[in-house]
Amino acid sequence: MKILITGGAGYVGSAALRHLAKEGHEVLAYDNLVEGHPKAVGAGRLVVGDIADTDLLTDTLKEFGADAVMHFAAATNVGESVERPDYHYGNNVGGTLSLLNAMRAAEVKRMLFSSTCATYGMTVRDEMDEDTPQDPFSPYARSKLTVEWMIRDFAHAYGMGFTLLRYFNASGADPSGEFGEYHDPETHIIPLVLETALGKREIIKIFGTDYPTPDGTCIRDYVHINDLASAHRLAIEATTPDTAEVFNIGTGQGQSVMDIITACEKVTGLKIPQEITERRPGDPPMLVADPTKLKSQLGWEPQYTSIEDTIATAWAWHQKYPDGYEGPRRITDTPG
Ligand code: UDP
Repeated sequence: MKILITGGAGYVGSAALRHLAKEGHEVLAYDNLVEGHPKAVGAGRLVVGDIADTDLLTDTLKEFGADAVMHFAAATNVGESVERPDYHYGNNVGGTLSLLNAMRAAEVKRMLFSSTCATYGMTVRDEMDEDTPQDPFSPYARSKLTVEWMIRDFAHAYGMGFTLLRYFNASGADPSGEFGEYHDPETHIIPLVLETALGKREIIKIFGTDYPTPDGTCIRDYVHINDLASAHRLAIEATTPDTAEVFNIGTGQGQSVMDIITACEKVTGLKIPQEITERRPGDPPMLVADPTKLKSQLGWEPQYTSIEDTIATAWAWHQKYPDGYEGPRRITDTPG
């Protein structure tokens, strides 16, 4: 299949792209490089462009002969979405409208959308299946839910198959150590803890210990990016021009913030300086997936079921590229 991947130079998009290429699909990354990195692409061709550029997207889809689109490109910083809803709705909702129009013009009939468990918001359930009520609490999450509805409406009116993937906490790095997570600014717990282990940050702040969880810190479901990538492949291969599907992607296991810090200490062999601070506004106490549907319907099985194994891949990447893709390779480039 020929698959155009918006956000193909980003953390999750590039993992999907590399996996699809390995499995014999033809891939093209379409990315404006605001958050993406050309070196992350690792397979296929990169077209530098914005999803708001409907003409460039249409021409690229036609010229490539795309059978399907995987749509990752989005503004993802939750805190920023509160300060700058214009940017988030513009990028995520406006950008997707442009993409859907380009797909119509180029007659591309299959689409996969990167949605998020954040659309479930504050709903409290032990394990969340796809029927969990959606109640997003940030502009970011609301923009993602808006896009879900927009895709449903376009598919209904203009004839197109789609699969919505709501994923939990993407984590880890490629086991080669060559591709991993690098955001600027970084807000995610695992990279922040590992950067603290590397001495790049002084301390890791634990955002609240008074949640209704066993150790008082928030619980999340950390799914390895390569397992996310395989879920995307299975989903796109099952998407026909008539499909209207939604799947949660997560391991089904929850880890608290304390669990993550302890696992990072175990993997790195280092004591990580930490400090308890206030809750971060808008954090739900617990988000854990029920991945039953993904497993039974698409045959998905995560390869990474231990948080230490996932963190070990991230640690290898952070040691090799402590300053991300574009930074100096301080460790491996040491003379001799
Ligand atoms: N977290 C924390 N300290 C940090 C960053 C995150 O305690 O410096 C917590 C955060 O409150 C949440 C969990 O770690 O409970 C995961 O946060 P992250 O930003 O990685 O992912 P999210 O679940 O918000 O998408």
